[in-house]
Amino acid sequence: MNLHEYQAKKLFIEYDIPVPPGYPAHSVKEALRHASELRGDGWVIKAQVHAGGRGKAGGVKLAHSTEEVETLVRTILGTRLVTKQSAPDGQPVNCVLVQSMVEIKKEFYLGLLVDRASRRVAIIASAAGGMDIEEVAATHPEKILSIIVDPILGIQGFQTRRISYLLGLDSKQQQQLDKIIRALYQLFLDKDLSLIEINPLIISDEGKLQALDAKISIDDNALFRQPNLEEWHDPSQEDEKESLAKRYDLNYVTLDGNIACMVNGAGLAMATMDIIKLFGGEPANFLDVGGGATAGRVAEAFKLIVSDSNVRAILVNIFGGIVRCDLIAEGIIKAVEEVGVEVPVVVRLEGTNVDEGKKLLAESKLKIKIADNLADAAAKVVAAAKEVY
Ligand code: ADP
Ligand code: MG
Repeated sequence: MNLHEYQAKKLFIEYDIPVPPGYPAHSVKEALRHASELRGDGWVIKAQVHAGGRGKAGGVKLAHSTEEVETLVRTILGTRLVTKQSAPDGQPVNCVLVQSMVEIKKEFYLGLLVDRASRRVAIIASAAGGMDIEEVAATHPEKILSIIVDPILGIQGFQTRRISYLLGLDSKQQQQLDKIIRALYQLFLDKDLSLIEINPLIISDEGKLQALDAKISIDDNALFRQPNLEEWHDPSQEDEKESLAKRYDLNYVTLDGNIACMVNGAGLAMATMDIIKLFGGEPANFLDVGGGATAGRVAEAFKLIVSDSNVRAILVNIFGGIVRCDLIAEGIIKAVEEVGVEVPVVVRLEGTNVDEGKKLLAESKLKIKIADNLADAAAKVVAAAKEVY
C-alpha cells in the first residue's frame, strides 16, 4: 500500500525527520486557510497522487500570493494528473499539499528499501537528487551508493559518514544526516515498510537538511498489524478492477493483452500467461482465484474479467486438487449464465472428478470449448481471440 506525500510527512514529523511546514487541503477554502497559517515568502502547491514525476507534469507549483494559491488550487483540484509514473489516464487529484516554499541550495536522493538479494534493508544515496533517479542509475551508476544494514548491528556510524562524504556535507549536516538515517531506519522497521524515498533531500538556505518530498510504501502482508496506516488507504488512486479483486480476495493484475485468464494458484497462473504468449497471444490479466476456489469466487472472477472491454476470449485453467472439478464446472456454468459472458470461453480442467466436470460442461449447451491439456487450451484460446465478431 502506498501513502500520499502528506501522510508520509506526518510519519516523518512523528520520527523527528525535518520537513517544511505544510498541510493537506481538499478544497480551495481549506487551502487558503492553511496558506495564511504558514509564514514565509511563498507557498508550494503539490498535487497528492500516488505517482512520482509530479514536478515535470505540472503537479508542483509555486505561489507568491494568496491569489496565486487560489488560482493554482482551483485549476489542479478535481483534475487527473498524468505523469511518467501514473496510470495512462492519470491519477485523480482530490487533495493538495500546501507547503511553505523553501530556498534550495542542494538536492540529494535518499532511499531505504528491502534488498531482496541480501534480504536486508538497503540505504541508497546519491548527490544527483531531484531528478530521475532511474536515469542516474542507468547512465551514471557510480553516482549511487548502496549500503546494506546488518539487522543485528543496526545502522553504524561509518555507514552514515560514508553517505555524508558522498553528499559533501559539513560536520553539522553530517550529524543531522546521521540522525535522519537512524530515524528513517526505525520508522521503516516499526511500520513494516517496503520503501521510503526522499527525492529530494535538500540543504536549505540556512544550511539545514530537510525532506522536501516523501514516498512511503507499506508491505501489504503486514497491514493487518498496522491498522492506523490502513486507515490512510486511498482506493481512488488504484486500478478499479484491482481494488474490486482485493475485496473478494482474488489476486488480480491488469495487463494490456486481450486474453483473460482465470487460474487457481499463482504458479499455474504464471505458467498459463507464459503459454498464452508462447502460442502468440497476449494475456489481459493475471488472476489467481486461490487454491480453494468456490463457485461464488469463480462468479466474482468472471464479473471482473468481463468488465475489461479489451477481453476477446477467456481461458479458465483449474487444477482440481483441493477442489473438485465437477464443482468448479458447475461454478463456471452458473457464472457464464449469470454474468452473460459474450466472448468465447476455453476451459481446461485437470484433477479430481475431471471426467464429471468435463461432462457437465459438454452438456451445458453454453459456448464453452473444452481443452484436453494446457497446450490445447492455449492454442484454442489464442485462435478464439483472433475471431472477428
Ligand atoms: P515529484 O518528485 O513528484 O516531482 P517533488 O516533491 O520532488 O515532486 O517536487 C518536485 C520539485 O519541486 C523538487 O525537486 C523541488 O525542486 C521543488 N519543490 C518541491 N517542494 C518544494 C518546496 N517546498 N519549496 C521549494 N521547492 C519545492
Ligand atoms: Mg520527488
